[in-house]
Amino acid sequence: MSDCIFCKIIKGDIPSTNVYKDEQVTAFRDINPVAPTHILIVPNKHIDSVDMMIVDDEPLIGHLFTVAKQLAAQEGISEGGYRLVVNTGVESGQTVFHIHLHLLGGRKLTKMG
Ligand code: 5GP
Ligand code: ZN
Repeated sequence: MSDCIFCKIIKGDIPSTNVYKDEQVTAFRDINPVAPTHILIVPNKHIDSVDMMIVDDEPLIGHLFTVAKQLAAQEGISEGGYRLVVNTGVESGQTVFHIHLHLLGGRKLTKMG
């Protein structure tokens, strides 16, 4: 997706503070963090949202969570706890239409809604 900001970050065309990369996934710090740890974990393959996932994407999306767990440990927030968020669609607040998992932690988080 040539006009997708996260595809550009994955390719290295837009600067980002990367914290993890492998063949399937890239993770980088959110430009507008809402918690001391706010990392975005994204598949290297462009998928608009969970709503556009296919069954074949299940291992890839599962891998986002394994990476999140590793990064939480790296950030020192495993014990205190953290939140994983996947906004899906406009009413959820999704603004970048390339699937991403928010890893949030490092402070007491308020209830959702
Ligand atoms: P969403 O609202 O779609 O769930 O989350 C999109 C997130 O991407 C937001 O938290 C926003 O701050 C972040 N974001 C948008 N553009 C950029 C960017 O160019 N670089 C980085 N690192 N984060 C971005
Ligand atoms: Zn993309």
